[in-house]
Amino acid sequence: MKNFLLVCNFKMNVVETKSYVDAMKNEEYANVILCPNFCDLKEFVKLKKSNKILLGAQNVSEFESGAHTGEISVAMLKNIGAQFCIVGHSERKQFNFETLSQTNQKVKLLIESNISPIICVGEELYSVEEKQAEFAVRFVLSELNEILKDVDVSKVIVAYEPVWAIGTGKVASNEHIETVLSAIKKYTGVEFTLYGGSFGENNFEDIAKIDCVDGALIGGASLKPELICKMQKRIKEIL
Ligand code: PEP
Repeated sequence: MKNFLLVCNFKMNVVETKSYVDAMKNEEYANVILCPNFCDLKEFVKLKKSNKILLGAQNVSEFESGAHTGEISVAMLKNIGAQFCIVGHSERKQFNFETLSQTNQKVKLLIESNISPIICVGEELYSVEEKQAEFAVRFVLSELNEILKDVDVSKVIVAYEPVWAIGTGKVASNEHIETVLSAIKKYTGVEFTLYGGSFGENNFEDIAKIDCVDGALIGGASLKPELICKMQKRIKEIL
């Protein structure tokens, strides 16, 4: 039986702690990582303290401290109790121009502080549909080549998120996911890999059953605590 991780990225949305507390009732969800916005991290620490969930952040600075207005450091995340941190999300690349070398810097600082980086990689749509998976493999391996420079790969989680599947309702086929994730494992040595991109009620069972998928990075569906709990329970039953 594999421990299937559900990583919930609330993005710039407010999710009331109470809505997760109510949905989780008396059960523990140790395989659920909640990643609220920075302002709400402290609130969610309470849920973490009751051993219900694991706690993650959505981003971190590539600098340790100093004159970096508006940034949050690894030490600050550590201090508040974050155990995981998403880095290199496609939205940060698109809207904040995050580069692969910045992501690499973040990964190294996180590992030094014992916070597990969840590294996002993924390709845009390719011009020839039948070659999408082939293109994806080449693309994500070249991203990882730079992001994993001088990094202990046993300490990271890689989330494969095709950009065309994020928030669009389009999901990569099972074969596509399997091809890309097994290539990541084979060529980088990373052991823990997630799929992300419109993961939800209609596809979670099929995706969870794919061998090399160890979990999911979830955007939209993570705003529905009841659905996250339902998926987690069902996944435990079927795996
Ligand atoms: C994401 O933003 O990482 C994501 C996977 O979003 P969604 O689940 O909404 O596609």
